[in-house]
Amino acid sequence: MLLTQCAACATELGLSLGKKCGRCSTRYCGPECQVQHWREGGHDQLCKPIKRAGGAEKYNANKRYTEAVTVAAEACAEDTSGQTCYICTQALHWKTREGLVRGCSCRGTAGFAHVSCLAEQAKILLAEAKENNLGEDAINARWRQWHTCGLCKQSYHGVVQCAFGWACWKTYVGRPETDTCRLLAMTLLGNGISAAGHYEDALAVEEANLSMRRRLGDSEENILVLQCNLATSYHMVGRREEALRVRQNVYSGRLRLDGEEHQMTIRAANNYASSLNSLKRHGEAKSLLLKTMPVARRVLGENDIHTLKMRWAYAHTLCYGEGATVDDVREATTTLEETERVARRVFGGAYPLTVQIESYLRKVRAALRAREEPSSGGP
Ligand SMILES: [Zn+2]
Ligand SMILES: [Zn+2]
Ligand SMILES: [Zn+2]
Ligand SMILES: [Zn+2]
Repeated sequence: MLLTQCAACATELGLSLGKKCGRCSTRYCGPECQVQHWREGGHDQLCKPIKRAGGAEKYNANKRYTEAVTVAAEACAEDTSGQTCYICTQALHWKTREGLVRGCSCRGTAGFAHVSCLAEQAKILLAEAKENNLGEDAINARWRQWHTCGLCKQSYHGVVQCAFGWACWKTYVGRPETDTCRLLAMTLLGNGISAAGHYEDALAVEEANLSMRRRLGDSEENILVLQCNLATSYHMVGRREEALRVRQNVYSGRLRLDGEEHQMTIRAANNYASSLNSLKRHGEAKSLLLKTMPVARRVLGENDIHTLKMRWAYAHTLCYGEGATVDDVREATTTLEETERVARRVFGGAYPLTVQIESYLRKVRAALRAREEPSSGGP
């Protein structure tokens, strides 16, 4: 995804080690690999085009961007058929010949566009805000265009989000490592790749990002945000022990930085508990939730999504904890019935969380019935 390996032998180099090609900045573990790559690896042909594109990392980003836009446009093809871009008013982009996308919450005939047109717009508006010193709020609002639809104000999702991740990264990759836009772009790229379901690739970007931020001495706040994303990727690729370790870390970091009543601390506790649950360490999850759930209910309120998720996780520990009694399962059922009611009222019946709690509740009710029935059976 990012170029973290020797171009010839794939030895891991991170983001800064190795020997660079003097013309195009392609990186190698040493001079042998560089010579071999020039003579037999085709670098004699590629060196010039890579240099022309602005260096190895930029060349790679351009290539990945084109692939991601193609995937996004294909995924949207049915939805975008017969429509035109609201920026350039064409169906096919004049230069790239790419198709249209729509990956937000726009409905009807609104919101169809080319990723390239939206990216160009975001780039120009952001540069303008910086040049004219429009202030932090304006700059933040314009940065949002990289991940949020300006019409419906909803974030892009799935493969469209991934295409914007690459669009943003290829726009700012050529800047110095400490440039704010470049730093934010790398995070956006990791999120985008993850949104497209490529968790192994997302993990590689997130690990590189985190080690770079540590090297540059970034704030604890920023490090915690990145660690939180990293843990999700670990979890998604099945590296659950590592996910747990990072989430435990994030939780104690949040406690130290923000205190137990901060929303970010409560979210971190929730993530930590769900990691414990996924490793069947229900006892530890239960004691963590007994401590943090009352805080969530008091501070965030009964209608908050994190409170609901926490109560659901707590019901899970009651149901599946070692030596769970019939009373435990009964308490779990009551808890889930309450959370399902609240979720339905606040978010509606079709909202993913409502649907998930509902299907989980059916399972727990069945488990309760099985345990309440006399085991001997017969007349
Ligand atoms: Zn090598
Ligand atoms: Zn070269
Ligand atoms: Zn367009
Ligand atoms: Zn939209």
